[in-house]
Amino acid sequence: MLNIETLVFNPFQENTYIVYTGNKECAIVDPGMLFPQEEEMLEDRINSLGLTPKLLLQTHLHVDHVLGAAFVANKWGIGPMAHEGDDFLVGQAKTMAAGFGMDLKENPPAPVKHLKEGDIVELGDVKFEVIHLPGHSPGGIAFYAKNEKVLLVGDVLFKGSIGRSDLPGGNQHELIDAIRNKLLVLPDDVKVYSGHGPVTTIGEEKKTNPFLQ
Ligand SMILES: [Zn+2]
Repeated sequence: MLNIETLVFNPFQENTYIVYTGNKECAIVDPGMLFPQEEEMLEDRINSLGLTPKLLLQTHLHVDHVLGAAFVANKWGIGPMAHEGDDFLVGQAKTMAAGFGMDLKENPPAPVKHLKEGDIVELGDVKFEVIHLPGHSPGGIAFYAKNEKVLLVGDVLFKGSIGRSDLPGGNQHELIDAIRNKLLVLPDDVKVYSGHGPVTTIGEEKKTNPFLQ
């Protein structure tokens, strides 16, 4: 059993996901809390669902996806797992945030574990395969639960759009290649949870996404 709760945080309207299984263990994916009220919302949701946070997973390390990483690490003693291709972004987070008028107290913690293509991340009885998707950021990854038909894709693919590739380390050619070769080959009924905006499916994006026709 796999459940997904979505919370939308910070001025970028970033999707922070609480992913949990039958044994009530949860992963927090891309914690984007900027304000104390947002930290409280996440904590309240986790407590009211009776969950125990076990994993802090990062699809990538752009600032709007890591604003709440230090809070999660301090609160529950779990460090981020991310692809090493995005490590260069960790030390820039505070400065980047300031550039967007956001006051980030400290840089996010450095990853405690690096994930790469083909790695398996286990949460309760659910297995997530790591898919490396460079192009939006060099270390972008998706978490794919094959049996549950769930894909947490970060900012690589959105309903009707794709990630931007004009940020440091971005590359549009790489991005579209990665989407075509690694995502559009998945079954049509796989649900896609993006870093911003609504849920979609692989089939819907294959058919209607203007960037992929
Ligand atoms: Zn991003």
